[in-house]
Amino acid sequence: MDSQTDIHISLRTHSSRSAAFEVFAPEVREGIPEESDSGEPPSQQMQPLSRKAPHKEKRFKGIPASPGIVIGQAVTFVVEPITIKQALIEPERVPAEIERFHHAIAECTAELHRTITMANDEAPVAAPILEAQLFMLNDPSVGAMVTEYIRKQYSADHAVQDVFDSQQAIMRHASDAYLRERAADLEHVKQRLLNFLANRNLVAPEIGEGSIVISESLTPSDVMLFRKSGMAAFATESSGITSHAAILARSMAMPSVVGLANVCKRIHTGTKLIIDGFAGIIITYPQPETLERYERRQQDLENKFRKLGKYASLPSQTLDGRKIHLFANADSPEEIEMARASGAEGIGLIRTELQLLERQIVPSEDEQTAFYKDLAERAYPLPITLRAFDIGSDKSFGLIPHEPNPALGLRGLRFLLKNRALFTAQVRAMLHASCHRNVRIMLPMITTVQEFQKALSLIEGCKATLRANGEDFDENIPVGAMIETPAAALIARELSAMADFFSIGTNDLTQYTLAADRMNAGVMAIFDTFHPAILRLLKMTIEAAQYSNIPVAVCGEFASHAAATELLVGMGINELSVAHTSLLDMKKRIRKVNFLATKTLSSEALTLATSSEVRKYLISATR
Ligand code: PEP
Ligand code: MG
Repeated sequence: MDSQTDIHISLRTHSSRSAAFEVFAPEVREGIPEESDSGEPPSQQMQPLSRKAPHKEKRFKGIPASPGIVIGQAVTFVVEPITIKQALIEPERVPAEIERFHHAIAECTAELHRTITMANDEAPVAAPILEAQLFMLNDPSVGAMVTEYIRKQYSADHAVQDVFDSQQAIMRHASDAYLRERAADLEHVKQRLLNFLANRNLVAPEIGEGSIVISESLTPSDVMLFRKSGMAAFATESSGITSHAAILARSMAMPSVVGLANVCKRIHTGTKLIIDGFAGIIITYPQPETLERYERRQQDLENKFRKLGKYASLPSQTLDGRKIHLFANADSPEEIEMARASGAEGIGLIRTELQLLERQIVPSEDEQTAFYKDLAERAYPLPITLRAFDIGSDKSFGLIPHEPNPALGLRGLRFLLKNRALFTAQVRAMLHASCHRNVRIMLPMITTVQEFQKALSLIEGCKATLRANGEDFDENIPVGAMIETPAAALIARELSAMADFFSIGTNDLTQYTLAADRMNAGVMAIFDTFHPAILRLLKMTIEAAQYSNIPVAVCGEFASHAAATELLVGMGINELSVAHTSLLDMKKRIRKVNFLATKTLSSEALTLATSSEVRKYLISATR
């Protein structure tokens, strides 16, 4: 592509829309005063066309949608709106027009099937999105409405436009954010149909290896097909981070930034730029120092992932196909990004109390909402587990009165039920953050059924308040129980009837079962999760979860213990939540084991009488 030439090339694209790839040199803009970061008067930026002034480095701030850094050239992708020329038809044309509509449906269906096949190979996360579009395309009620319209002597194009627009209007006004976002899918389906009806030639654009596509918005198919022709990253004006393009980008580990107002007009094809998907910025005409800094960061990232990187995209399953969902424990937005980059399937534990302990104040409900929303959006569409404040014991906080034995005092749910205003504010903040339907609430330090029931009714009360205010939240937000006291494990059957999931906190389960303070170096030898008592409580908890058919995870440190993987898999654990730094190692281990063999191994381990026998057995059996 000749970046010195002032030309515009319009290309028909593969996708449903007609698009123009704008190709012209940055130099042609030299006479145009450009916004200055330094605030210099415009006169200083007006350059005669013959003299080439160096371009100033310029930053555009958007929303980080998918982490990573790419340095490359911009390709600006502008969508041309479709204009429908003929609205009305002669009565005798009606049957042919209905036929034309059905033909377009058949063609679009075939094209979507091809894209789905591609998605299954390259981006499995996109497949359900495209399947949903396929479903919308073939929805008989919409088909009937379009046919009815054509019978009233409207052209097929006009009928499609009107019917789809009215369906979209209904979706856009839905109180459910998820439904509102699906209106965009319907728009993509409509555009596909209109393109076929307009006989548009579908040609995949050649955009060049390593390009950064700048667009108003992108469809999931755009993302996949542009990637095939070399797109390394993209930036869009409108899409939110929950848009399918952004979801896809994250699943493909393709850096992207969204929400960049007016970039299409301000960044032209051929412009050199850096996209920083961590910070959500793009930098045009980077200065040598900036380039150097970003090249160094790229190198660091590459080194980090080179060793185990291949495991990030491989499925987490045993040799004989048993899925073990690998989740990450995260304490900050950055850790969520790192977890995603290492292929985490979700966030299994956010210790929300850390926010409170760091600042030594209780953040307001609005602050909590903003924080949880940010976390949930970074994780989206993966599930994220927000644990209610687990304060007390070693996580002491000014609000808790001095207790002679704090580990056995007001901790976790006990404290929350005594401080209902604080608990209520937190639950409301979590519910607000659930608007994208990917948040799970988890309750810590449970010892009785009543505690869990009380927490559930408080959550229901919070839902009622939000409902009455017309606020958007997940009515079906899963509420899980942490099993981290022997009492909780022993009443796991009863708890499993009320909880949506279990997560076993082996750190506390060990401390409370063995009466060995997890903070006391003097009893470290006693604090041993391989103790048969813990294994039996684990087994009991897993069986209760299986009885009620709810998922059961381990989120304590034991989950990433090298000698424990086979034991936990064999016992029937569905999910392991570990630090993001352990994810790739864990995946490697899981992919080497055989589920049937681990079942035998765990049954054998459960018959042993001491921790050292269990350890010895596991080490020798898995060597
Ligand atoms: C646990 O107890 O295992 C756990 C995950 O919670 P925390 O370490 O925060 O107490
Ligand atoms: Mg705990």
